[in-house]
Amino acid sequence: MNIHEYQAKALLRSYGAPVSDGRPVMKAEEAKTAAGELDGPLWVVKAQIHAGGRGKGKFKEADAGEKGGVRLTRSVQEAAEEAKKMLGRTLVTHQTGAPGKQVNRVYIEEGSDIARELYLALLVDRSTSRISFVCSTEGGMDIEEVAAKTPEKILSFSVDPATGYQAFHGRRIAFALGLEGGQIKQCVTLMGTLFKLFVEKDMEMLEINPLVVTPDGNLKCLDAKMGFDGNAIYRHPDIAALRDETEEDPKELAASKFDLNYIALDGEIGCMVNGAGLAMATMDIIKLYGAEPANFLDVGGGATKEKVTEAFKIITSDPNVKGILVNIFGGIMRCDIIAEGIIAAVKEVGLKVPLVVRLEGTNVEKGKEIIATSGLNVIAGDNLADAAQKIVKAVKG
Ligand code: GDP
Ligand code: MG
Repeated sequence: MNIHEYQAKALLRSYGAPVSDGRPVMKAEEAKTAAGELDGPLWVVKAQIHAGGRGKGKFKEADAGEKGGVRLTRSVQEAAEEAKKMLGRTLVTHQTGAPGKQVNRVYIEEGSDIARELYLALLVDRSTSRISFVCSTEGGMDIEEVAAKTPEKILSFSVDPATGYQAFHGRRIAFALGLEGGQIKQCVTLMGTLFKLFVEKDMEMLEINPLVVTPDGNLKCLDAKMGFDGNAIYRHPDIAALRDETEEDPKELAASKFDLNYIALDGEIGCMVNGAGLAMATMDIIKLYGAEPANFLDVGGGATKEKVTEAFKIITSDPNVKGILVNIFGGIMRCDIIAEGIIAAVKEVGLKVPLVVRLEGTNVEKGKEIIATSGLNVIAGDNLADAAQKIVKAVKG
């Protein structure tokens, strides 16, 4: 789960990390009061969307102005005007893709003077099973570009869970970032604070880009991106409360309400499968026969008729779906029950695209018979390869 920059900064502030004072604004008429509570001479107005690259982004609407999603302004009045221009408009950045994201919140912040822009992130490194600090002197810009062109400028330091964070980690990062004098001590403290926050809140990713050095030689977190482990959210009601459902894919949101593991993809074949491993195999075999999956969907081992119906609704609501492949192994769940669920779902939701069903496992004969005698236009698949070939043929001709 991701949160907005202003929420991430509030968390940083509560742990004592250096951030500027700022106010989130949801309605244009609140912008002037919010900006008026902050000190000048510089006010930064920042679009709040769950995507990076806002500064270099572009708005779709002409009345949002030519500037991107991060605007430096010189008066309270100007800050309020820029906030008004952004609210309700659609910002397109390299991370949002072409459709962009609607800006429903902006953050007005006291502007900082910048001497250097650095990059810092904490993440869970799966290859070492440790939390790693990733840092670079090339902050402020696209880190993906730095990684592609000058990978030697990105350094990473992993923390042994047996020792946890130690001052030497912070010193190594400080030297890698070319910090000097009092900045080194500040860096050691800040890295310790970030590590503590990361662990205590079960984060998956924490990115500060840029981490700046101000002209008077102090460190400050100018941008903040945080991602939390969805499986640990139940332990953090304070973090769960920060969820902004308007930022999430509506199909993924509906799926999470019914406890379905669903991830939207770009292809044309909708998949309904039970078990993550079988779902992966189904996606692979669709690709093998020349098509692309429109989603990953694991209805789980104990799929009920209601869950199957909901899964169907989610798949058919996707305009990219040109065909559906149901691939279910009846283990704990019997095939006849699943077949009844599929029939009920098709009757309720309707079927405008070809549907191939492959069932295997307990009561498979009964299940196949239910589908064959249902009178619905369902194509039966004999095995995984046969089912995949049939749906690819039905979609591609
Ligand atoms: P992003 O484009 O979504 O990553 O948004 P950032 O918060 O990182 O802002 C983009 C860029 O705007 C930063 O790299 C800075 O160069 C600039 N910027 C952001 N806040 C300030 C500020 O307070 N003062 C100044 N001078 N520049 C800022
Ligand atoms: Mg940034």
